[in-house]
Amino acid sequence: MKKTTGLDRSKTRNWHPATQAVRGGTWRSEHGETSEALFLTSGYTYDSAEEVAARFAGEEQGMTYSRLQNPTVAMLEERIALMEGAEACRAQATGMAAMTTALLCQLSAGDHIVAAKAAFGSCRWLVDHLCPRFGIETTVVDGRDNDAWEKAIKPNTKVFFFETPANPTMDIVDVKHVCALAKAHGITSVVDNAFATAVLQRPMDFGADVVAYSATKLMDGQGRVLAGAVCGTEKFINDVLLPFQRNTGPNLSPFNAWVVLKGLETLDLRARRQSENALAVGKFVESRVPRILHPGLASHPQHNLAMSQMEACGPIFSFVLDGGREQAMGLLNALELVDISNNIGDSRSLCCHPASTTHYGVSAEARADMGVVEGMLRINIGLEDPRDVIADLDQALTKAGL
Ligand SMILES: *Cc1c(COP(=O)(O)O)cnc(C)c1O
Repeated sequence: MKKTTGLDRSKTRNWHPATQAVRGGTWRSEHGETSEALFLTSGYTYDSAEEVAARFAGEEQGMTYSRLQNPTVAMLEERIALMEGAEACRAQATGMAAMTTALLCQLSAGDHIVAAKAAFGSCRWLVDHLCPRFGIETTVVDGRDNDAWEKAIKPNTKVFFFETPANPTMDIVDVKHVCALAKAHGITSVVDNAFATAVLQRPMDFGADVVAYSATKLMDGQGRVLAGAVCGTEKFINDVLLPFQRNTGPNLSPFNAWVVLKGLETLDLRARRQSENALAVGKFVESRVPRILHPGLASHPQHNLAMSQMEACGPIFSFVLDGGREQAMGLLNALELVDISNNIGDSRSLCCHPASTTHYGVSAEARADMGVVEGMLRINIGLEDPRDVIADLDQALTKAGL
């Protein structure tokens, strides 16, 4: 295949992120197609028996099986790595496949992991339930508290794991401080960057070792496919993650990779516009509810920290109603334009009740500890005209008695 804008990093590395999002990793076939080709193939054929043997032996470059390599998936991996400023990236079937792979590929029985308590429900489940089953010790800390991270370190601590902003409490972790602390102790920092993406926040610029993604969210951004990715050094991806991935198979399908490639072309536009819209809607909601958790608003206790590590606030915020579950569900049921949906990053505005959905699977104690209360709603602001979203929230808040 012609590598017209190629997998050759020497030029593409210097492009600005918006350019990388459109063109990075493009790898053209002999037909010179404009758009990325979709290689919907599980396997490959060879001209000779010797050729395939050489490929399996690593003596000759080339694809052998789509659990190991696929051209469409490789384009996506290269594009995400470029945008992230990472040496390498491997795509995963879902965001949770990415988190599971990023953790289990490097942890063994007897190791210890420190994780922020505020996290997506399934991320908390990995820490609270999966790791202990395999003899991996876990400590959960308040991710906002720099000292808590330091106090939790033990001689066998291998990994720090956190997301920022956190789903759905919008807690912010000081990426620079916590990743430097990890580095000083030989600990690998794994950052779940799903809420921001490289357009809004590049954790590696602040010292993160590994950045993991749900690409289902802003990267696809149009509610079509599940996807994930893990970025890191070539050494980490090739020597630590790849053996795990090759043999356990959490791979992304080429079709889904192709959809995400097309999503990335508009990511910069969408992430910035949705952040602007979320700020406009957030200002309105703040005037009507007792408590809002929005990193773009000065009322967020970590607003300055958030804005020092993010280019914009992102499309998601949460708010808390005094009337508990009943009032929160009443508001959801009164929405006309905004959909009741537990997805985020979508171009449509979506609202959900985390305690009964995304965080249903974590224990009531863990929910209370991380601040996922019954009156909390989380909203993703899409690409609609924010005036229409505000009008819908206005009437729904009124119906809910606010
Ligand atoms: C959605 C989400 C995930 C899981 O991603 P899937 O693609 O749904 O598997 C992980 N982390 C965060 C922060 C998320 O929002």
